[in-house]
Amino acid sequence: MGLLVFRCPASGARIVTGIHTDTGSLAKVRSLSVKVYCPHCNTTHLIMAGHGEVEPMIVPRFSPSHETAHPRA
Ligand SMILES: [Zn+2]
Repeated sequence: MGLLVFRCPASGARIVTGIHTDTGSLAKVRSLSVKVYCPHCNTTHLIMAGHGEVEPMIVPRFSPSHETAHPRA
């Protein structure tokens, strides 16, 4: 799973949609046009889903031992 990311057709800037998908699911809908709000142009672009990319999510590692280890000063 990753985040669906598009490239703005006007400025070429990255648009992170917040949609979670994977490359397999994206391939099935690649011919669909989706409305993507672009914060760079402050407008909505109609972009083919297949033009999007799946960006692997960076999940911060939860480390309980570090969270609870508070050495007394
Ligand atoms: Zn744009």
